[in-house]
Amino acid sequence: MAILEVLTFPNPILRRKSQPVEKVGEDLKKFTQDMLDTMYNQRGIGLAAPQVGRLERVIVIDTRPRDESRYEDEAQTELEKNISQPLILINPEVIEKDGETTYPEGCLSVPSYFEEVKRAEHIKVRMLNLEGETVEFEADGLLAICIQHEIDHLDGKLFIDRLSPIKANRIKSKIKKYGYPEPEKETEDELESERI
Ligand code: ZN
Repeated sequence: MAILEVLTFPNPILRRKSQPVEKVGEDLKKFTQDMLDTMYNQRGIGLAAPQVGRLERVIVIDTRPRDESRYEDEAQTELEKNISQPLILINPEVIEKDGETTYPEGCLSVPSYFEEVKRAEHIKVRMLNLEGETVEFEADGLLAICIQHEIDHLDGKLFIDRLSPIKANRIKSKIKKYGYPEPEKETEDELESERI
């Protein structure tokens, strides 16, 4: 088990485009386990490889409810329930999308900020699994939101880039000027919220 360092905005590595994985081997399996350990350790529900400094198209996700912080109206959808998690996605692509939804997203790379972001409500994804096989599946609910958020990371994009330019600039300059709040200064509420 290894807990990796999670990079935070404005680290320039988060702005780079990740490369497709060419070979799914033992090294990658070990790396995805470290990513999962890191994500659970940070109380996240998703993590993309560039967030821990590796510019490869790899994502880990676990949106299953883990405590009482997810309320009734955020319960898993039928589609979500049918997908076995944690989910490891290699070279994921959204091949179909429809509908629109919003959710107050957070991010381990932009700690302590939460903002409503618009995403497709329902997506179809193509990816490789850890056996190197191509898999396609459909998702909605928090899982679909999380997959879209993480694929953005693979393209060097953060959720704050998807806000209105005024809001995005306000947050970015505040972070550049003052940094992030110390973890112990965060409120209970923030600690209980989900970070993608
Ligand atoms: Zn994120």
